[in-house]
Amino acid sequence: MGLRLYDTRTRRVRPFVPLRPGHVGVYVCGPTVQSPPHVGHIRTGLAFDLLRRWLTQSGLSVTFVQNVTDIDDKIIINADQAGTTVWELATRQTRAFDEAYRAVGVLPPTISPLATGHIPEMLEMISVLVERGFAYPGAGSVWFRVGAFADYGALSHQRPASMHPSPEAEPGKADPRDFALWKAVKPGEPSWSSPWGPGRPGWHLECSAMAGKYLGGVFDIHGGGLDLVFPHHENERAQTVCAAGGPAGGEMANYWMHIGLLTTGGTKMSKSLGNSFFVTDALAAVRPQVLRYHLLSAHYRSSLEYSPQTLDESGAAHDRVETFVRNALDILGGPAEAAALAGTEAGLAGSVGPGTVAGAAAEGDLTPELVWSEFAAAMDDDLAIGRALAALFGAVSRGNQVLSKAHSRELAGWVEVTRRMLTVLGLDPVEQWPTAGAELRPALDSVMGILLDLRSSARARRDYTEADSIRSRLAASGVVIEDTPEGQRWHLA
Ligand SMILES: [Zn+2]
Repeated sequence: MGLRLYDTRTRRVRPFVPLRPGHVGVYVCGPTVQSPPHVGHIRTGLAFDLLRRWLTQSGLSVTFVQNVTDIDDKIIINADQAGTTVWELATRQTRAFDEAYRAVGVLPPTISPLATGHIPEMLEMISVLVERGFAYPGAGSVWFRVGAFADYGALSHQRPASMHPSPEAEPGKADPRDFALWKAVKPGEPSWSSPWGPGRPGWHLECSAMAGKYLGGVFDIHGGGLDLVFPHHENERAQTVCAAGGPAGGEMANYWMHIGLLTTGGTKMSKSLGNSFFVTDALAAVRPQVLRYHLLSAHYRSSLEYSPQTLDESGAAHDRVETFVRNALDILGGPAEAAALAGTEAGLAGSVGPGTVAGAAAEGDLTPELVWSEFAAAMDDDLAIGRALAALFGAVSRGNQVLSKAHSRELAGWVEVTRRMLTVLGLDPVEQWPTAGAELRPALDSVMGILLDLRSSARARRDYTEADSIRSRLAASGVVIEDTPEGQRWHLA
């Protein structure tokens, strides 16, 4: 494969080479389950879902780890305000996140470790860092000594001297830039015992411990939202690299990927600004496929505007693709028939010559194979979604042109390549988003066959009253019959 990805640390688009041939380990920082998911969370989830689907399509096996931060200051505060426990709130919100991801078609992670299930691994890591002089205990907490790691700041491209430390003085901390690996217990808060006294883990430490456990000390891709570059990922990297013996021990991840922000009215969407949209509200306004399409339609590193108007535009674009696929499959007699017919055509089409979609379109010899190669080249180019969608709409446009020719190999070729691209995007209307009651379709087809035969017989014996009655009663039930040169066709109104 020729995949190239942008890496935040080296600030370059580099060829992607898996550490282990044929296999990719991905760790994405998951939600802190303090409140219901908002649309920004889903955008990050979808961006990595697209990456994962493309890696899989390219023949790689992917181990996808996304953690759940189920202990945190905000969870403790929110649980207290809601009059419930940390455990109940975290469980409820974890379920809400799972449901939101599922609703927009994000594949479930291979492993979703909980922070509170990995305290022993975290304590072990702290011990190693203390032994090696990268961490020190102070006032019941344990602190990472930023000054001991010369490469600190390399991920976020900052010099340690110019960093703004937390304004709050914290007891036991020797240098304002240092950060907590272990937080001393406060009255009334959940805690675990440790060699340094009771407390709970620091947020950054959780990910280092869990990524190391499930993917190893060095793995392929580490990702999250752009707002995690500093301090979260900088600190994770410092912990993992230093626990492995310092910079000579290797990088934490070979590629660091960060997803752009979601904006509304040009401003960053955030809970603290009060302008964030909950996923449940978004899904009350648009179908989940449309939300998915919208959140994938901008390049993952760009910021993306979320507003009723931009959603409408995405809805119209998505409908165009979906309508083409449904119409084409209706004409061709279904997905299996279309695949069989297109397979014959692909065999006859031969090899794909050099060229581009634009060039071929001008010459009038655009083929489904050429469209696929353009789509694949775009995806390989750091998931260039704009070009990938241009290839998709190129196929839809060509397909619509031959739709009137009814049943044809050409149409089958276009609908097949369109569905192949939609599968990568997680938007295939047949496999991934079947319409409600799809399992009843074969039975309905059969019943409709009987009714259409009765109508044909009535017309054959010139009993037009009966034929019209069948048609109008079906229309009243929401079933439309069309008389075409190929015979009677039906669809739901
Ligand atoms: Zn993390």
